[in-house]
Amino acid sequence: MPKITESMNTFNIKGPLLEREPMWSHTSFSVGGNSDFFAVPADLEDLRNLLADARHADLEKFILGGGSNLLVADSGIRGLVIDMKNFDSFESQGKTLVLGSGLSVSDAAWRAGSIGMAGLDFLFGMPGTVGGALWMNARCYGAQVSDFVAWVEVMDWEGRVERMVVPEDEWGYKKSLFQRGEFIIIRAGFDIVQSNSEALQRAMLGRRENRLSKGHYKFPCAGSAFKNNRKFGVPSGVLIDRCGMKGYRVGGAAVSTWHGNIVINDRAAIATDIEMILLAVAKRVEVEMGIRLEREILLVGDWKNG
Ligand SMILES: Cc1cc2nc3c(=O)[nH]c(=O)nc-3n(C[C@H](O)[C@H](O)[C@H](O)COP(=O)(O)OP(=O)(O)OC[C@H]3O[C@@H](n4cnc5c(N)ncnc54)[C@H](O)[C@@H]3O)c2cc1C
Repeated sequence: MPKITESMNTFNIKGPLLEREPMWSHTSFSVGGNSDFFAVPADLEDLRNLLADARHADLEKFILGGGSNLLVADSGIRGLVIDMKNFDSFESQGKTLVLGSGLSVSDAAWRAGSIGMAGLDFLFGMPGTVGGALWMNARCYGAQVSDFVAWVEVMDWEGRVERMVVPEDEWGYKKSLFQRGEFIIIRAGFDIVQSNSEALQRAMLGRRENRLSKGHYKFPCAGSAFKNNRKFGVPSGVLIDRCGMKGYRVGGAAVSTWHGNIVINDRAAIATDIEMILLAVAKRVEVEMGIRLEREILLVGDWKNG
């Protein structure tokens, strides 16, 4: 691993470049140690230069969206974290809405709905960015991101940009080709239909109420801990509840008492507390019900050092 400050001197970008940045301040769980480097590229050219510098310094890279689906290790992330928040464009081009990958999906949905553009309104109230939602093929209220994607503009690790139409069979339940890690998502075009803006806004506010009533925003969390699977017959949260795991606690984290599939950080947890809960829940469901849960929350960073 190259010496941190030494590598940093060779970097040549316009956006901020920080050293030893605490990742807890960039994740919805509010846990996680420092990343060696943390860069916020200003634009496409900056991102390309950053990738070249990182390649030269032989640094591992991690792309950060809104940090709402991540559990970052207490010992942090080695190498470079690239925050895409400056890629936050919002553009209406006829029947296509073109959104920058760093834009909040909730903001995008609200802005589109307010000018009578329907489609992405199901995402209002969900944390995270356009890039993260594409990566995960985020879904809620009976819709998923891939239902509306027309094209995606990506950059590969050598800095080449291309526009792709993602084949239908590359999308699945919480699955996308972006999970192969070959591309950075820059922006995407979404198919939109005209609708009544007041009705859209009403529907969006209703969904936010629904999330509020389900306790989504009560404590730092990362949404569903485990994926659902039709084969289970019931949602993963119900399985976890049936195993008596609601309220199960390790240190400052617990399985929420109101939803079996949400793990919360309610008492200054560390990442290891949450990891222990995820392991314990998966083990209990497997032992008691013979069902293997698949984790939805992504473990990121240097887990081998605790
Ligand atoms: C309260 C709460 C409620 C939630 N409800 C839902 C829900 O209803 N449905 C649902 O699906 N999820 C839900 N989630 C989970 C989360 O919000 C989504 O998975 C979201 O899409 C993650 O986006 P993000 O920008 O935060 O991505 P991050 O967590 O930052 O990253 C997730 C992955 O995407 C990759 N990534 C991000 N941006 C890019 C990019 N530009 N290029 C390449 N890779 C990229 C990252 O490298 C990482 O691998 C919820 C979370 C919370 C906290």
